[in-house]
Amino acid sequence: MHSTSFQERLLERFVTYAAIGTQSSSASAEAGVFPSTDNQKAFARTLAEELENIGAENVHLDDFYYVHAVIPASAGKENLPSFGLCAHMDTASDAPGDNVKPLVHRGWNGAPILLHNGFSIDPASDRDLAGCIGDTIITSDGTTLLGADDKAGIAGIMTLAEVLLSNKEIQHGTIEILFSPDEETGHGMDRIDLSKLKSKAFYTVDGGQLGEVESECFNAWRADIVFTGKAAHLGSARGKMINALTMASNFISDLPSAEAPETTDGYGGYFCPLELHGGAEKAELTVYLRDFSAEGMENRLKRIEVFAKAAEARYPGSTVSVKTLCQYKNMKEKLDQNPRILELLNSAVERAGVTPVHKPIRGGTDGSRLTEMGIPTPNIFTGGHNYHSRTEWASLSQMTAMVNTLIELAKLWGE
Ligand SMILES: [Zn+2]
Repeated sequence: MHSTSFQERLLERFVTYAAIGTQSSSASAEAGVFPSTDNQKAFARTLAEELENIGAENVHLDDFYYVHAVIPASAGKENLPSFGLCAHMDTASDAPGDNVKPLVHRGWNGAPILLHNGFSIDPASDRDLAGCIGDTIITSDGTTLLGADDKAGIAGIMTLAEVLLSNKEIQHGTIEILFSPDEETGHGMDRIDLSKLKSKAFYTVDGGQLGEVESECFNAWRADIVFTGKAAHLGSARGKMINALTMASNFISDLPSAEAPETTDGYGGYFCPLELHGGAEKAELTVYLRDFSAEGMENRLKRIEVFAKAAEARYPGSTVSVKTLCQYKNMKEKLDQNPRILELLNSAVERAGVTPVHKPIRGGTDGSRLTEMGIPTPNIFTGGHNYHSRTEWASLSQMTAMVNTLIELAKLWGE
C-alpha cells in the first residue's frame, strides 16, 4: 500500500497555487525581461517562505527569482550522490490565466463536467478522463486555464519535501529543489546559475498522464530564409518584376504536407513555416525544423537548402539565402550516456504501483535545456491533462501517484 496520508495537503496546496495567477509573457521574455512578469516574483517569494516554514535548508531566491532549496540527507547518507527536482512557476498564455477559480469535483460520477461560457469536459471525447470515475477531479471554472502545468509539479515537490522533512524514517540522500520562472516562454533556463546546482542529475516534474516518463525530445532548428526579388512598377512589370512574396509562398508549397505538425505525431518530424514578413522586393520566412534523430535533422537541413536552390532557380535574377540555428537538442543522447538516471526513475514509478509509459516530447522543456547544459534531466508525470486550455484538469489520485513516485525516487537514490 502506498501512502495517501498527504493527499488532502497535496490537494489544498495545489488549489492554493492554482488560484495565484502566474502567466508569463513571451513578448517580455523576447525583449529580455526576466522573469517576464511580476506575478511570478510574488509566487516565488511565497514558495521560498513555505520552504523555510517546512524546514528546508539553504532556501534562496536568486536575482532572477529562481527558488533554490535543499532537503538535507538522512543521517549517514550525506555522502551519497544528490539529485534535483525542478518545476516551473509560470503558466501558459494560450488561455486566460488570471483569477483562476479551481473547482474540486470530489468523487466525480462520470457525467460531463460543465464549466462557464459553454465549455465542458466530456469523458465521451476525453479517454483519460473517462478512466477517472470516482476520483477527485480539479478543473478551472471555464473562464481560465487551470495551471496544473506546472502547479501540480510544484505542489508535488513541496509535498515530497514536507513528507521527507517531517518523517525521518524514509532514508534518502540530499535532494535539491529548483522552482524556475518562464518555462512557457522557452527562456526558462536563460538565467540559471549552474554553479548553484550541485547535482549531476535532475528531474523535471512537468509531465501529464499517469506513469508518463519523458526522456526524449525533438532536435530543434530554425531556418530563416530571405527571398530577394525585383520590384517594378506594376503597370510595366511584365518580364521584369520578381515578387518575393510569390517566391516565399511557392517555397512554402514545396514543403511536404505530410511532414507538418498538423499531420504528424509520435516520432514523426516536420517542417513548419511559422512567420512570413515582407513585400514584393524582399520577404523573410521562418521555418521550424523538428526531428527526433540527429541523421533525420541533418537530412532536413539539407532539404531546406535544396528547396531554397529550387526557389532561386525558378526565378532567375532572384536570390534566396538560408540561415539555420540550433534551438535545442534531443536529450536522449546524454541520458543514454547516464542510463542510471532513467533506470532509477522507471523503478520509482513501478514501486509507486504505476506502469511507466515512455513518450517522446514533441517540444522542448527546461529539462532539455538543462540536459544540454550538462545535467541530464528527464521528465516525470504530474497527473495534469489538457494543458494550456480552459478544459485543463488534474486527477488527485494521479497527483498522489506522482508524490509516491518522488518518495520512491528519493529512497532509490538513497540506497
Ligand atoms: Zn509545463
